[in-house]
Amino acid sequence: MKRISIADGVEFLEAPKQESWFMNNGLLISGEEVIMIDGRFGGEETLAFIRENNVSRYFISHFHIDHASDAWRIAGETDCRPALNSTEYQYLQSSENMSRATGYGKAGVHRLVEEILMPKMGLQYIPSIDPYELKDIEAISKGQLLAVPAPGHSPGHYCLYAPQSNYLYACDLGLDRFGPWYGFPHCNLNDFLASIKKARELGAKQLFSSHSPVVRERVGEAIDRIEAIIERRHEKVLNAWNKGKKTVKEIAQEGIFFQRTDVHGKRAIPVMSYWQESMVKCHLDYAGLQAEDIE
Ligand SMILES: [Zn+2]
Repeated sequence: MKRISIADGVEFLEAPKQESWFMNNGLLISGEEVIMIDGRFGGEETLAFIRENNVSRYFISHFHIDHASDAWRIAGETDCRPALNSTEYQYLQSSENMSRATGYGKAGVHRLVEEILMPKMGLQYIPSIDPYELKDIEAISKGQLLAVPAPGHSPGHYCLYAPQSNYLYACDLGLDRFGPWYGFPHCNLNDFLASIKKARELGAKQLFSSHSPVVRERVGEAIDRIEAIIERRHEKVLNAWNKGKKTVKEIAQEGIFFQRTDVHGKRAIPVMSYWQESMVKCHLDYAGLQAEDIE
């Protein structure tokens, strides 16, 4: 894992693998207390890093499975307390909350998520998880990091801006190969596009994120690419609609988002299909269209 200083007392922690579901980059803030924001370097390595650096709190940026999976082990096996942003922390407290927040229950895939994805990713619920506020990050970093709420990807998703270096930690804004992800009913394209605009307007010199290598040049282009991906998908959804595909299911089968839905195994296909259909719905909502299979 590589440590890159991005402001006084703030380091970017670059995971050994990018573009992986099993790892993500993070931030280490060393102030009066040491807190880590995300950072998954492969099971034991994360725990060892937390112990060696006396990290007292582990702030999960947002509740998604690839970000929250190590937290229960951190809670159980180290002195560090995990916390999640105050908008989403309840999602991780129980099966029922997760089922409701993600719409998994209503879609009939919650059991599959619990039986296949959660064990595969190592996610467990944490009934005692603490909430944190974005202003806590600003206070602990002594203003070296400014929180930029960036919903769309998840309701509590945010970016962090370091004014001293003019660097931006874009979290899961969509710099990775897949691009922007909005596969739950609470995701929203208007919010997402507003978040992208906000990030662009900061005019950052370098971009740091959860799953991609550092962007050191052509930062504006990297942000524009996220928006371009949304526009390209939107065009494809509208084309399908105009060709007479009036249900979410039919449009989802066009493979606009996922070329394959069996990458997490055959049994998990309904879960990936659900994400894909949720993304189709986001586009239809954005266009003000009502699919025939939505009540
Ligand atoms: Zn995410």
